[in-house]
Amino acid sequence: MSRLSDILWEYDPQFQAPLTRLREATSLALMVVAVWTMVRRLAVRLLEEVLTGRAHQPETWPVCSSCGRRLQSKGFRERVLHTLFGVIRWQRRVGRCPHGCAGSQVAPLDQALGLLPHQRTGAEVQWMGCLLAVFVPYETACRLLQQLTGVSLAAGTIWTWVQQVGQRVMAQLADEVKALAAGTLPRAESVAAELVALPLVIGADGVMVPFRPQPGTPKGTTRWREIKVAILARVGERLTRQGKWVTRLCQRRLVAVLGTIDDLTPRLWLEAVRQGVSTAVQVVWLSDGGRGFWTVFQRCFKAVGATAILDFYHAAQNLYKGIAAWLDGRTCACQQRFAQLCHQLRHGHEQPVLAELAALVESAQLPESARETLTNVYNYLKTHEDHIQYDQFKTAGLPIGSGMVESACKWLVQQRFKGVGMRWSEPGFDPLLHLRLAWVNQRFDSFFPAMIPSPN
Ligand SMILES: [Zn+2]
Repeated sequence: MSRLSDILWEYDPQFQAPLTRLREATSLALMVVAVWTMVRRLAVRLLEEVLTGRAHQPETWPVCSSCGRRLQSKGFRERVLHTLFGVIRWQRRVGRCPHGCAGSQVAPLDQALGLLPHQRTGAEVQWMGCLLAVFVPYETACRLLQQLTGVSLAAGTIWTWVQQVGQRVMAQLADEVKALAAGTLPRAESVAAELVALPLVIGADGVMVPFRPQPGTPKGTTRWREIKVAILARVGERLTRQGKWVTRLCQRRLVAVLGTIDDLTPRLWLEAVRQGVSTAVQVVWLSDGGRGFWTVFQRCFKAVGATAILDFYHAAQNLYKGIAAWLDGRTCACQQRFAQLCHQLRHGHEQPVLAELAALVESAQLPESARETLTNVYNYLKTHEDHIQYDQFKTAGLPIGSGMVESACKWLVQQRFKGVGMRWSEPGFDPLLHLRLAWVNQRFDSFFPAMIPSPN
């Protein structure tokens, strides 16, 4: 007696078909699928039952916001909502001002449940739709949502949700940047005990994204625009199974903007403050030295005593340019000289490298055509003299290549925004970028307040 399947069989005939499928299933997978169908139906019934129960509790009506009279019940009206389990319907009281003041109609239960007047889909479906859109194109997100949950939506619906939530993310960020500029610090993120001793490494780079030349029309030549991306992480090392030490990034946080270095700087500084830039045992700035990113170091991180590192591969690349201008790049002599200087640069002999370049630039034997290039290379490395002490950096366990920055760009931007045939408009791009940032920075859920249990 009282087996759950028997109770369900008796409880409602709609469970009998899936129960039969369950009993006759020829594989465990089919059993699970049959139960899944039943659970969804059961969930709809359960939700409707609880909602009906709540709707029949006595109501205390608020007063009309226009005339101050107490609102009166106009009786029960149906509410329909698309949820993760399917469509649910329930009756709840709707009230209005006895004077009939405009806009006075309310449904107190809706308000208590966090439902908006014209909301047709549950917050949990919106949350899931946005979550999928963070990773895959809108059309795919719709299909996945349908396959995973049975909820059918138009791609445009998810697009609208991403717009709405993305705008909230952007507005909050703008407020925080403004507050910081006015002296109000953001709340620092807690750092796990085992990460406290690790350096906070910060780097930035740019990545190009295809945009439509004019909003609203696919016509015209693609316009490539640069997204500035910065990464902040606690960087340590870990031993692989093969017994090799590799870089380990922890508490990775990203900042990105469709805009200039000036747009990036305050956002990056905000995140740096959150990540404990003033309390970290060591702060490291890592960049390839191009396109104005060093001004971010000069403006923000130099003052907090950050160690700055010029990306080794970029330094070597420039060195090669100089050597190739001096010795013919196709010759063995060039290759050998470059290999020697590169080795010196990497292993703590940056001063002899600089001295050799300085002597070369002054040398009368240098062909005039090479002088300008070599002078530029010398000036470049001389400017970054303090940032090319690779042997010291390596000994201190710091990264010398900006690979972590490049992979952040690839992950954040490339993977979602540079798919086949994709071209963006600024209003379409920005909210999605910010939602993706919220996800990677582990703040995604906080933008769906209806999904967060209240403290009491
Ligand atoms: Zn009124």
